[in-house]
Amino acid sequence: MNYARTLTLLGSDSLFVGVSLLLFLRPGAGLFFYPLYGAVFIWSDLRGESETPLIFIVLATFAGLFLASRLPSAQALPLALEIAGLWALNWGFSALRGLEFAAQRAAAKETQDIEAATLDREREKSYYLAYHKDAAAQVRVRREMTESAKSIGSALDAAEVRARLVSILTSRFPGCRVGVQDAPRGDALLAAAAAKGGPLLVKDARQSPLFPAGAKPAFGSGMAVPLSVMRQVIGFVKLEADAPGAFGPEDLKTVDVLATVASLSLENIRFHEQIHAQAVRDPLTRLYSHKAFQERLAEEILRAGRNQTTAALIMGDIDHFKTYNDRYGHQAGDALLRSVAAVFADFSRPVDFPARYGGEEFALILPSASIEQARETAEKIRRRVASESFMFGGTKTSVTISLGVAGFPADATTASQLVRAADQRLYRAKEGGRDRVIS
Ligand code: GH3
Ligand code: MG
Ligand code: MG
Repeated sequence: MNYARTLTLLGSDSLFVGVSLLLFLRPGAGLFFYPLYGAVFIWSDLRGESETPLIFIVLATFAGLFLASRLPSAQALPLALEIAGLWALNWGFSALRGLEFAAQRAAAKETQDIEAATLDREREKSYYLAYHKDAAAQVRVRREMTESAKSIGSALDAAEVRARLVSILTSRFPGCRVGVQDAPRGDALLAAAAAKGGPLLVKDARQSPLFPAGAKPAFGSGMAVPLSVMRQVIGFVKLEADAPGAFGPEDLKTVDVLATVASLSLENIRFHEQIHAQAVRDPLTRLYSHKAFQERLAEEILRAGRNQTTAALIMGDIDHFKTYNDRYGHQAGDALLRSVAAVFADFSRPVDFPARYGGEEFALILPSASIEQARETAEKIRRRVASESFMFGGTKTSVTISLGVAGFPADATTASQLVRAADQRLYRAKEGGRDRVIS
């Protein structure tokens, strides 16, 4: 490169020296040769040598002045014009180079701008790609959480809620031990969560002050979240990993959300059970309700028919209960209903089904019992009611009861027939003077 440049310079120099020699040797033809300097300029400029033209123009001007001293004065003006022409040529070249330089600078700036803009776009693109990845991950997490909440929320009983919670957490935190239990029972992690009354994260069990130095915990890191129903802690969910640092605050949040969904589901199930129990039990006497009685009687008759066994029904009605109410008041009447209900419950075997049939009417289903066995039970109830002193507000009261007994299949082949038969005998007991059993 340097070698080529030197050659070019030497080339320009040689031409310049050649033209100068011509002028020196033939000053008479000076006006003719002098413009050759212009050709040297053009040559030098074509070679891209920016510094040579200035040296050449100065030397060429000196050469022109030298030539002027050798020429007749009449040729001074044309020579001066030729010298001025050389300067004009030089100015033209430098102006042209200035323009070229400006264009180059503008092009370079444009390139630089384009490069900067490209860099910005690249940065923006990678930002949006990262954002898209992050947003997609978040959507996935939300979808998973929704599916999990739906699964836990649709469980039908408490055991199913627990099983689904464990299964969801096991697949979400593979390699960890997941468990649900009612009480801490010596578990330090659960005891700490119970004491805190909320979700607990242990990043490194060996470093945690929760576990005394002597008692080396059997896990590296863990999480525990209480499950509560109606603001009461009814259990805990816990996750343990062998390695420390397996869980972070985001994981605890996830477990907390799922535990909350499980708690709500358990609360729903409990409400449902309570409502169901209310439908099955009479709220005053705690005996089975009329509806539950009808259902059970139908079942028992079917079973007895299928197994070709007997079944019996006792219907009882408190005597002159209206008078009792009138004399002692409605509250005393309620208390009496509870006491008589307790007598029916007392004489029931575990398989029997005591119910409040209506206001002061009771029924007792005795599966597999004969009419004689049922009659004995009815007698025991009658005797107990008649002999008992029912206390109300310090007042001793007494009452009697009439009972009718009917049996399957001797008296009836359907549940409604059996009720009718027992009721008719109860009516006959009333007619017969009350405080008696008719079978
Ligand atoms: P009988 O010996 O013929 O059975 O006479 P009774 O007075 O017992 O029969 P009746 O059917 O005329 O009266 C039943 C009364 O039971 C009327 C009603 O006010 C009362 N009763 C029904 N349900 C309740 C209740 O839940 N609490 C109280 N205190 N009274 C009730
Ligand atoms: Mg009645
Ligand atoms: Mg009555």
